Amino acid sequence: MTDKEQVVKRLVGIHCPKCNAEISCLRNYVSGENYYILDEGGGYEEQEFQSDGTTNDYECPECSELLFTEGDKAEKFLKGVG
Ligand SMILES: [Zn+2]
Repeated sequence: MTDKEQVVKRLVGIHCPKCNAEISCLRNYVSGENYYILDEGGGYEEQEFQSDGTTNDYECPECSELLFTEGDKAEKFLKGVG
C-alpha cells in the first residue's frame, strides 16, 4: 500500500441540544441500592452498587436537562454518530 491514509478528525464539538453548550461528557444518574460495610471506626467501605433498573438518566453537565435514558444512545451522541 502506497496510498496515503488520512485520518479525518471532527473539528466541531458536541453541543447540547437543549442549551447549545459545547460538552464532552454527560452526567449519568442511576437509581438503586448501595451496599456498604460500616466498620468499628465509623468508616464506610462501599462494597457494591445494585441498579434497580428504574432510573438511568444522562443529563447535560451544563444545564442539567435530561438528554438520554439509554446508555448506547448517550455514547453515540458523545461520539457524534447518534
Ligand atoms: Zn445543556
